[in-house]
Amino acid sequence: MIRADHCRRSHQLSALLTIAVVLLLPTATVTVDNKDSLSIISRFQEYLRINTAHPNPTYNEAAEFISSQAKTLSLDSQILEFVKGKPLVLLKWAGKNPALQSILLNSHIDVVPAEHHKWVHPPFEAHLDPSSGHIYARGSQDMKCVGLQYLEAVRKLQASGFRPLRTVYLSFVPDEEIGGHDGAERFANSDIFKNMNVGIVLDEGLASPTENYRVFYGERCPWWLVIKATGAPGHGAKLYDNTAMENLMRSIESVRRFRASQFDLVKAGLKAEGEVTSVNMVFLKAGTSSPTGFVMNLQPSEAQAGFDIRVPPTADPVSLERRIAEEWAPAARNMTFEFKQRASVYDKFGKPIVSAFDASNPWWALLEEAVKKANGKLGKPEIFPASTDARFFRERGLPAIGFSPMANTPILLHDHNEFLNKNEYLRGIDIYESIIKAYASYDEPARDEASRAEM
Ligand SMILES: [Zn+2]
Repeated sequence: MIRADHCRRSHQLSALLTIAVVLLLPTATVTVDNKDSLSIISRFQEYLRINTAHPNPTYNEAAEFISSQAKTLSLDSQILEFVKGKPLVLLKWAGKNPALQSILLNSHIDVVPAEHHKWVHPPFEAHLDPSSGHIYARGSQDMKCVGLQYLEAVRKLQASGFRPLRTVYLSFVPDEEIGGHDGAERFANSDIFKNMNVGIVLDEGLASPTENYRVFYGERCPWWLVIKATGAPGHGAKLYDNTAMENLMRSIESVRRFRASQFDLVKAGLKAEGEVTSVNMVFLKAGTSSPTGFVMNLQPSEAQAGFDIRVPPTADPVSLERRIAEEWAPAARNMTFEFKQRASVYDKFGKPIVSAFDASNPWWALLEEAVKKANGKLGKPEIFPASTDARFFRERGLPAIGFSPMANTPILLHDHNEFLNKNEYLRGIDIYESIIKAYASYDEPARDEASRAEM
């Protein structure tokens, strides 16, 4: 009895000890994790609080912040100024084999402006809602998240003792939101970039409301079209043919029919948004002004309309141009047209500007594998509906992948109350850790430029 009792008691004791150990161990880990997460989140908030909105982005403050982060990671850091007052921060994590092509992780520092009064929390306070975990800030999705996630992933890799085989570059560029010409475009065309011997570029993607991350292999090309109609002026009461207004209206109707045909394909689920040509009218300019508004009894001799057209790189630009010349602005109806911008759908090798996502592009498979390894899921490769800096790299024939690891997140870029959940942000760091590790360890000889053009 006594023995049995003793035995039971020692069983109880060891059971209690086991429970205590089980309870204590994870608690200790969680506390350390929490401390890490807290500092990771506060660094993100610090970056978000730097107001880099156009038209007056405080680029220098942001560049200083990034440089100071780089210092804590012992990365080589330089500030390039292709245009005065527009710093581009370039960081380098040297690889063991500099002969191999390097990896470039690109992000833009600037953000679009915000209408402060329409936000629940001020857009540059980076308020963290304690109940939801959402961090509200302009740039939380587009794309300060990605820039700092790259850095945090490097921090984690360094802490784990990882050393890259390939050199990893991180570029923080200005001006993406106003066209990127003084930022990524100059950078991509510079000798500095050439000497970096880049093999793959990662750039921004979009948030995904589902559990699948979105991933982009190309983007639509902006064509900004202005059509102009001219005609004889006349009395407002007179009915006659070929007035500027009538001619312009007929063109607008034709554009609208085309727009509807493209939109129907998306609505029917036959094509993704990035796979159709979008056309949206952005201005109408006509009428003869008077001190009180417009002259009402005069038909004007000129009328114009402007359109933002986005052409998928897989579309046939010749047939679209023919449509513009023959249907939207035919000379037969006294119409002319001009492009304010007409981005080519071809790269410098004359191939459509898309990055391959099959076996010919090893970086694609590596990314897929790495995301899977970090327990993430990728959606179907897509064409980005708008423009990003990735085009400047793709134009050079380089593969570039658009990817911002934000799943289960509404798309709020450029919107009021842009936010990113802190857990989603932290998860994205793990995803990048996995990708950077896979990319920087990839041990294949560099391809020369000619064979790169094949991709
Ligand atoms: Zn962006």
